[in-house]
Amino acid sequence: MLLPPDADVVVVGAGLTGASTALHLAEQRPELEIVLLEADHVAAGASGRGTGLLGPRLGPPIDIARRRDGDQLARRRHLDSVAAVDRVRALAGRWAPQAISPATGQLVVAQTAAEASLLRRRARTYAALGLDVSLAVTDEPWAAATRTALAYAPAASVDPGLLTRGLVTAAIDLGVQLFERTPVLGLEPGSVGHSLKVVTRRGSITARAVVLAVDVTQHPGSLPVVPGQLALQVSAGVTDPLPEDLITELGGPTAPHILSAAALGPYRRLTADGRIVIGGGPAAVLAGATSRTLAAAERNAWAWQRRQLDAVHPALAAVAISRCWSGRISLTRDGLPQVGRLAPPGLPSTAEVWSAGGWNGHGLAATVAAGQRLADRVLTGSAEPPLRPIRWPLATHPAAPIVRAALRLSTPAAPANRSRGPKSFEGQPGATSYSS
Ligand SMILES: Cc1cc2nc3c(=O)[nH]c(=O)nc-3n(C[C@H](O)[C@H](O)[C@H](O)COP(=O)(O)OP(=O)(O)OC[C@H]3O[C@@H](n4cnc5c(N)ncnc54)[C@H](O)[C@@H]3O)c2cc1C
Repeated sequence: MLLPPDADVVVVGAGLTGASTALHLAEQRPELEIVLLEADHVAAGASGRGTGLLGPRLGPPIDIARRRDGDQLARRRHLDSVAAVDRVRALAGRWAPQAISPATGQLVVAQTAAEASLLRRRARTYAALGLDVSLAVTDEPWAAATRTALAYAPAASVDPGLLTRGLVTAAIDLGVQLFERTPVLGLEPGSVGHSLKVVTRRGSITARAVVLAVDVTQHPGSLPVVPGQLALQVSAGVTDPLPEDLITELGGPTAPHILSAAALGPYRRLTADGRIVIGGGPAAVLAGATSRTLAAAERNAWAWQRRQLDAVHPALAAVAISRCWSGRISLTRDGLPQVGRLAPPGLPSTAEVWSAGGWNGHGLAATVAAGQRLADRVLTGSAEPPLRPIRWPLATHPAAPIVRAALRLSTPAAPANRSRGPKSFEGQPGATSYSS
């Protein structure tokens, strides 16, 4: 199919952000020409590689958010994150019901006394803000030393690749034109009025507005970005189906998701078909990394995840991890995503270039909500000021523990027990394939 010469809006990137933006644009204004351009294939990025723990929370921990931004904003942000979870559940129910299954909440657990005291402080902050997040006593093995957890709701288990494809299919049904294997190489001033020229390997499109939904772009240098996002490679795995009695003992497929409170700590959930999806552990800072260091980091992560699983229940020693994969996430200085307008050099200041990224590894709900907000802003032509570049004084900013943990955990670990290791490695899978 040939690219159209022009469009009202071009959305770049067919992950959850791009899919949600295109769908919300088309739902509100079906008469517009909306084009979705994807460098690879739908859900080729993080959206096809996520572990599918859908739950609230956005930005820095609540105690830091309250201290820094005040009661009103900290409270509203949390409530927005709860609403975003509900929105994903509703959208998935409508467009991709097979991508979502219920979960009874999320337990953020303390593995150490220091983490337990942090969680207690956060529980006091939630209570002071009138938010429904409470301290719980837990029998979770990862929290054996503290028995302390924070209980979050609502939550759901999601196959993010399936969800992305469901939203894109819905957008196409509403008239959005999708072009896969069409990397965008750059943006140039258009010839008419405030238009923009979107340059791709297959030709150019003139558009009134462009939405960059590429997060950690796969084509560095080609697209304007907000400087300062830090890209990490993170890894995950999924086990073979567990025996029935073990699934029951672990709480069944709707059991709460378990997430360690530690930076890059382990997290897991059960799938509808009785597997465990696990993530966390060694990560690699992408800037300056070689393919060897990235490969070593993912091997370390998969071996580390095996050890975390073994700590959950002795019977898990007999259950193999059947697939492993890695993907990229982006961190921001304040833990908040960056969603807004860009003012790229070389383009007129009136150019409508929008961008969303920096999900800090927690984008399942936030991307979909951001897509909806971006669609509204593109349609109203909101004249907000451009996003500001961010700097990284590593010593002081809130994401520092994650980066430090990534660097520390990337150092070689003990070799994995090969007999029980993953059956296959997929360094760059196109999409996860397990039942939500
Ligand atoms: C291993 C892993 C586990 C995760 N687990 C969870 C979880 O349990 N819960 C949670 O909330 N979040 C999780 N996340 C984070 C979540 O998956 C992401 O925040 C979210 O998917 C980001 O979506 P996106 O659409 O912004 O980016 P992406 O899904 O990365 O989409 C960007 C798209 O843009 C395309 N692209 C890039 N450059 C160009 C270009 N120049 N031209 C055209 N197209 C381009 C890419 O090919 C890609 O398809 C996880 C992430 C990973 C990697």
